[in-house]
Amino acid sequence: MSNRHSDLGSHLWDSSAIFRNAVTQFEQAATIMGLDPNIKERIKHPKRALIVSVPIRLDDGTVKVFEGYRVQHNITLGPGKGGIRFHPHVNLSEVAGLAMLMTMKCSLVGLPLGGAKGGIRVNASDLSRQEAQALTRRYTMEISSLLGPEKDIPAPDIGTDAQNMAWVMDTYSQQKGYAVPGVVTGKPIEVGGSLGRAESTSRGVVYTLEDSVKYLNAKGRGPFSVDSKATAAIQGFGKVGAIAAQELHDRGVKIIAVSDVQGAVINQRGLDVPALIQYTNSKGTVKGFPGAEALPLEQVLELAVDFLIPAAIDGAIDEHNVSRVKARIIAEGANGPITADAQKVLEEKGVFIIPDILCNAGGVIVSYFEWEQGLQSFFWSEEEVNKRLREVLARAFTKVIGSYEHYRCGMKEAALIASTETLSKAMLYRGLFP
Ligand code: GLU
Repeated sequence: MSNRHSDLGSHLWDSSAIFRNAVTQFEQAATIMGLDPNIKERIKHPKRALIVSVPIRLDDGTVKVFEGYRVQHNITLGPGKGGIRFHPHVNLSEVAGLAMLMTMKCSLVGLPLGGAKGGIRVNASDLSRQEAQALTRRYTMEISSLLGPEKDIPAPDIGTDAQNMAWVMDTYSQQKGYAVPGVVTGKPIEVGGSLGRAESTSRGVVYTLEDSVKYLNAKGRGPFSVDSKATAAIQGFGKVGAIAAQELHDRGVKIIAVSDVQGAVINQRGLDVPALIQYTNSKGTVKGFPGAEALPLEQVLELAVDFLIPAAIDGAIDEHNVSRVKARIIAEGANGPITADAQKVLEEKGVFIIPDILCNAGGVIVSYFEWEQGLQSFFWSEEEVNKRLREVLARAFTKVIGSYEHYRCGMKEAALIASTETLSKAMLYRGLFP
């Protein structure tokens, strides 16, 4: 950097751990790969953000104003892409960090999409259906100047689902006067959603786990298998964790323990996953599941299992609990579940980490398939979706392993290097405006 302008850092973006972790891990990768410092400087900063107030009338007649955000981190490769999160901890910096991960994710798996993220600072479970609808619609209206099938395409994230996406699609379409399914992905099938989108993140987690097992066995770092000889623990039993549990259970893997925000359960012989899913559908939590014993929440991350899948929130494994983590392979189902410090400790211990931008990319890959199917008004079978998902992830996995072996670095850095290689070339070709 020029010595005429000292680096003052940022007071705006970097107040959250997830943003700082994303930048730290990116900088480590940039150093290892010898990235052009000008490109590095640009990638460290999100392109633009919108902060909006979202007023809605609650069911009791009072008006409450929520804070909403949409950040586009980088749109060099194509329209901004990334979910909308409803969570009480959401803030500008967190959304910016998550948007940066989306940039890296889309570039890594070869999608012609940039990185974005949105969110509202709200506890989704406090909202009635009517309130959730009003909040989603008003938020969509407030950020609609950023949105569009060629501009920025939201999707579900923590606290939002296909119903929210249908409201986003409808609100945007009402403003235009015609149906615009391409403005959002993760929609219900009936309004232009893709078969296999709801399961795609979890399937991707399992596919990358299978690729990792194959790789580690070939390198003599096993033996591992994704069958009845293997054990797993999963933090989070929502959109990602529950379906990943089901997919692994279908392959014979013993799911020893799972947790959600309310509680954790354990059964050393393996949980009856279909029964557990049925139980959570009616009770709203895994807590109290009769086929298991209660487990202190934090211990789900500390079991001696082959596969640990943190599929809840960022920062789950940090400097406080990393020494107690005993799993041999960690598949990052969530975005940023391992902090930069904890990652170092785990990799020194020989734990194999499947990085979030690879591991959970199944969601955005099938989002892309959904967008593409919508633009062509031609829809694929679920087999076709899954087959192509597998192919895209296998290619990305090979790219990451290429960097991992070439630079002899950690898997997190390898994924960021593989991603940055594509993105930085595109940025260099496009050049710096003006
Ligand atoms: N929210 C998901 C993610 O973090 C999906 C994003 C998308 O499909 O655009 O990857």
